[in-house]
Amino acid sequence: MRSSADTARDGGAAVDPVDAAPRCQSCGNGRLARDRIKTALWSGSRLVVVEDVPALVCGYCGEQFYEDETAMRLDMLKGGGFPSAEATREMVVAVFAFEAPRPDDGGGGDER
Ligand SMILES: [Zn+2]
Repeated sequence: MRSSADTARDGGAAVDPVDAAPRCQSCGNGRLARDRIKTALWSGSRLVVVEDVPALVCGYCGEQFYEDETAMRLDMLKGGGFPSAEATREMVVAVFAFEAPRPDDGGGGDER
């Protein structure tokens, strides 16, 4: 982990993102509003959830956008491999088959 205390922010041409709500790049209709979302991502064969991720969410189509800083932070988390010891909690995830199993398959009820 690196901690650079003096990350030089280029002052001057900083546009206030709250003031000028950017338009959604996906649908072109909605305006983006700041929100906190949760996202699920794969780390190898593990599925992990990251909560309270700051994002810009379209009020029209619901598309979510990350700012560069947030995307970088997520990449850093991913690079860290999500150690279980640092997880805030665990949750059970339901898994579904894309194609439902046929009811007449086998038919013996033989559950091995
Ligand atoms: Zn949209």
